[in-house]
Parts: sequence; C-alpha cells; structure tokens
Amino acid sequence: MAELEGLEFGKSDFVLLDEVTMEQFMENLKLRFEKGRIYTYIGEVVVSVNPYRQMDIYGKDNIEAYRGRELYENPPHLYAVSDAAYKAMKRRAKDTCIVISGESGAGKTEASKYIMQYIAAITNPSQRAEVESVKNVLLKSNCVLEAFGNAKTNRNDNSSRFGKYMDINFNFNGDPTGGHINNYLLEKSRVVQQQGGERNFHSFYQVNRSLHFCCKTVITSNNDRSSHKAVLSALEVIGFSKEEINSVYQILATILLLGNMQFESDGESVNIVGQEVVNHISELTATEPDSVNKSLLYRTVDACFGRDAFAKVCLQHTVRSLPSLLQALYERLFGWIVSRINSIIEVKDYDPVLHGKNTVIGVLDIYGFEIFDNNSFEQFCINYCNEKLQQLFIELILRQEQDEYQREGITWQHIEYFNNQIIVDLVEQAHKGIISILDEACLTVGKVTDTVCLDSMDTKLAQHPHYTSRKLSPTDKSMDFQKHFRIRHYAGDVTYSVEGFLDKNKDLLFQDFKRLMYNSANPVLKEMWPDGHLSITEVTKRPLTAATLFKNSIVALVDKLACKEPYYVRCIKPNEMKSPVLFDDARCQHQVAYLGLLENVRVRRAGFAYRQLYARFLQRYKMTCEYTWPNHLMASDREAVEAIVIQHGFQDDVAYGQTKLFVRTPRSLFTLEQERNNL
Ligand code: ATP
Ligand code: MG
Repeated sequence: MAELEGLEFGKSDFVLLDEVTMEQFMENLKLRFEKGRIYTYIGEVVVSVNPYRQMDIYGKDNIEAYRGRELYENPPHLYAVSDAAYKAMKRRAKDTCIVISGESGAGKTEASKYIMQYIAAITNPSQRAEVESVKNVLLKSNCVLEAFGNAKTNRNDNSSRFGKYMDINFNFNGDPTGGHINNYLLEKSRVVQQQGGERNFHSFYQVNRSLHFCCKTVITSNNDRSSHKAVLSALEVIGFSKEEINSVYQILATILLLGNMQFESDGESVNIVGQEVVNHISELTATEPDSVNKSLLYRTVDACFGRDAFAKVCLQHTVRSLPSLLQALYERLFGWIVSRINSIIEVKDYDPVLHGKNTVIGVLDIYGFEIFDNNSFEQFCINYCNEKLQQLFIELILRQEQDEYQREGITWQHIEYFNNQIIVDLVEQAHKGIISILDEACLTVGKVTDTVCLDSMDTKLAQHPHYTSRKLSPTDKSMDFQKHFRIRHYAGDVTYSVEGFLDKNKDLLFQDFKRLMYNSANPVLKEMWPDGHLSITEVTKRPLTAATLFKNSIVALVDKLACKEPYYVRCIKPNEMKSPVLFDDARCQHQVAYLGLLENVRVRRAGFAYRQLYARFLQRYKMTCEYTWPNHLMASDREAVEAIVIQHGFQDDVAYGQTKLFVRTPRSLFTLEQERNNL
C-alpha cells in the first residue's frame, strides 16, 4: 500500500477508498489518470489506464527502484507486481503467473512487454552468455509474433489478433533458461476479410519486395519496410534458418496470389484464368503446376471398392472454398512459427537433481470481452474465454484470501459475489451447452442450417436465465427472429448472429489441398500439413470442431494457471480517440463494472483490507506511538504492534495472525498514514 505519493495524486490503492462506490472509484481513477499516475492497486492487483503517451517510468532507474522491493515501498507499477511474482518464484520456489486482461487497445501487450523487459533486466547479473541468449530470444519473439499475429484495427493500430500465454522457465539461480508459448484462436478470417479502415496482418505489408509480382501494391509505408527489417533480424536472432525464413515469405506470397486468383467457367467446366499464376504458386510451394490445378478444381471423392475418384467442382464451390484455404494456410504458418520458436527456446537438458527445481513465471496476454455491433462465432469464443478467466479470477482471489486467513489462524467470513459458473455451463456443458448443440448440428448429415441450429438452441435453452433469443422474447425488436441469440454475460448482454456459426465451427478444408501441401518438396511446408497424408476414407471420420478445440485449449490454459500463484493486471482504455488527455467517464465506468473491479475491492475489504508482517508494520508506524519510538522494549514485535493499535483506538478493527496484523477497514490505516505524514 504505497502512500508515498501524497494525497493530491489520489489513493494509490482502491481499498483505501472511504466507501466502495462506483463514484468514489471513478473519481480516484480519473484523478490519478489526470495526474499521470496510470497504475493503482487493489491489494496486489494492478489497475492500469492506457496513457497513450510515452511515460518516463520505465527506465533503468525505475527498474532499480523496484528491484527486490515490496509492493508498498514504491508507487504502484507493473514492475512491482513483476518483482512480487519473481520473488515468489525465486524465494519460495512457487510457479507464478501474471494475467493481463482488458479490452482491445487497453494496453495489455505493452504491459506484457514491460513485464518481460523488467524480468530480463533483473536477471543474470553475471551476464552468462547462454542466459543472455535465452533472454534475447524471448524478447525478440514478441516482434515476430506481433508481425504475424497483429493488425491495425479500428480500435488499435497494433491489435493482437490471437491470445498468447508464455511460460518463462528459471533455474535455481533465478535466471531464465527457456520458455514456451501457447497461442489461442488466431483471427484467421482477417486474411480474407477486414472491416472498413482495418488492415490485414502486418506481415502481409512486410512481404519482401523481391516478391514484387504480387506485393507491390500492398507495401504502404516506410513503417512497414522498417518493421520488415526488424522482423527479419528477429527471425535470424531467434535462430530461423535462411530456408525457413524464405519459406515463410513464400507462403505469404502464395496466399496473396491465391487471394487474387480469378476463375472462369464455360458453363460446364471451371478453369483458372492465366496459367502463369498457377506456375508461380507451384514454384513458391515447390509443387507441380498440374497438382495445383487439380487441388483447386477437383475433389477426390470416396468411390466404391476403396478407390478414389475425381470429381470436377462447379464455379460456385471453387470460389467458395478458396477463403478457408487461404485462412488455413495462414493459420498453419502462424502455428508453425510459434512451434519453431518453442523448439528453440524450450528448456533442454535440465536435470532437477543437478540444477534444483525448475520454476516458471507465466504471462497471459489475451483478448478481453468483445461487444461489437455484429458479434459472430469469434466473439462467442472470445467471450467464453473471458467467462472462464473471470471464473478463475473469482476462485483464485477468494481462495488466496481464504488460504491466508487459514494459515494465519483467522476466522474468515464468506462474502457474496456473482458466480458466473452458470454462464460457463451455458456454453460448455456436455449435451446441454451451446458448444454441444453446435457440434451436434455439425455432425448431423443432411442440410442443417444456422437457423435450424438456432431453433435447437432455443428449444434446449429456453429455460436458461442467461440465454434468450427473439423467439423466446418476441417483444424484443432488437433481435432478428431467424438470426440472433443473446447471452447475458457477466460483463453485459451480447447479441450474437448465428449466421456462419456452423461453417466456422466445422472449419472444413478439402483433403485435396492438404495433400498438395503435404506433397511439397519444401520440408517446411510439408511439416505444416502432416494430416495431408491421410487418404480420403480416413478423413471422413469427423475431426473435432473449432469450438471444441478452442474449449479444450482454454480448459487446459485455465488448469495451467490455476496451479500457479496469480498476479493480475487489469487494463482500462480511457477513450476511443487514442488521446492522452481524454478520460471518457462512461466508457471507463463500463470497463470498471465488467472487469468486476468493485467486487474485487469489496472482496479484498470484506475480510481484511490490509495485512502486514509485524516487523514491517512496526517499522512503518513506530514513530506514531510513544511506546515504540524509537525502539520498543516489549517481548515481541506483535506486542509492540498491539501498543500502536491501542494507542490509535482501532483495536476492534484488527485481528492478530501468526505473523501478520490484519486490518479490516482501510480507515484505520488511513489515520495512521495521516499521523505519520503530520509528524
Ligand atoms: P489488443 O487487444 O487490441 O491487442 P492491447 O490491450 O494489447 O490491445 P496495446 O497494443 O498494448 O493494447 O496498446 C495499444 C496502444 O496504446 C499501444 O500501441 C501504445 O500506443 C499505447 N499504450 C499502451 N500502453 C502504453 C504505455 N504503458 N505507455 C505508452 N503507451 C501505451
Ligand atoms: Mg495486444
């Protein structure tokens, strides 16, 4: 609880508010933003407001000031929680994680980079070369992942279009020895379609100009060109070979060429316009031109007697199957880049007997709640992910509190909070949940449309308090009868259009194209398409759907986080204009509400807002009491602390734990702080 700044900057911890009301919360948040104090605590949680300007708080001096210090010794900062996570990891051999959340443009990715830079700066004091190289690869991986996974959107010029969880491994010295990146749900539809004013992934604008035949129109700025240089150098530093780097750009060029491909039909058969484009693609993908042709214009069908037969596809089908192909190419490329980085940074030859326990700090930078004008399958997945993370937040924050009270021998009084498990169940429950209903519709043979699927949801979920649709609420004119359903999320109501849900969930890609890629003479490309060797009879077995795969990956993520000691950074976007001075009250208040920050403060205060080791407490407040200044003569620090508490008359407001004093309301502490300031 850092009271080092003076009250003109507001309260540096929201638990110190006189009353936990939205008004007081917002007043404090705004005051601090206007005074350039972008970080504020709720206990150990950091609330961060995007300053939209360069702040002079990340330099070497700042790093030194936070290094090895306790949270309350300095003004709130990302560095302080990074240090807390690091200390827990190093001193107590705990695996820890830092969960960063907030909506698009709120500053999650920037925060994750400052956290990584801090950890890199405070480790490896002896400058061992192999550790320096690990740190370098970890830091450079950001640049590569941003090039391929970020894009300019209307909300953020550098918006991450994927979720990222990175584990950093440490040896017993507390130095990084490696890491592992998990990526979640890349927004691959962006490859073929962007909203007005938005761009494709940065990488497309950075395609090497030597591939000018398809890319001259897309290089738009010097910025793209210099970023390209940075990405190339990062790829090299990480350890990608020349051939691998070439392959990456060849695949990008292939996607661009395929995207511009024209087809013609004479009524009977479909053909590609211009043979040279086919030749280019075959060159770039190291495949035969004839195979390229076939994979685009024919489908292998499962003929009788185990023999394959070819069927020519109609124009409409050819054109319709192209987008999923481009998306798949990009998704696999991205996945391959991540796994290639992983293979380089994964910890090798670590012997726990020899080296001690290998500990981990995880950093999660994942998309926040999305409520757009049109919400589709992607928003449905992302919002489900946020429900899961909120569930974890509630569980961990409460559990942590309870654990501590138990450890310290203090009676814990349960407080009510909204448990969003019911919404999590609505989405993921076996047989009854939305994902199950979707999957069932995808498995049904015959013509199941999105609308039929919506009907099925309406029937099965009619009684669910968090689900509705136009059919279930006929008076609600804001929804379309055939199209929309609405989920009452913990963060607010979101209306989804069911259009495209089934196709996106099926995520169908024809085996012919996979086989083409698998048969490439380029080993990199071949590696990305291992399923291309399957015969047509084998692939008719239904693969897992996109929603189920996503659910499984999020369940695995939550399991991973749940066994670590969590630290939270909650990011808030102050306005829509990227302005460093504008604090949009309504927008901010909305975020505070759906991030559950008030609940967070309440939970924190319901038990004891403040707890401190006896020795530390004494050190800070001994000057406020005649029996403890300059030194006490009592038998223990605990008794000396009792003397301070009694002198200030808040003995009814505290509990004495084994090692710590617990203060119920912040007001008591506030009195002490004021007294201390007045001396
Ligand atoms: P998305 O979900 O779209 O990926 P995000 O939460 O990751 O969004 P960032 O990309 O981290 O958002 O931040 C958006 C922009 O805000 C940055 O490009 C930068 O200009 C500015 N910004 C964020 N945090 C800071 C900061 N601490 N200091 C200065 N500028 C910042
Ligand atoms: Mg981001």
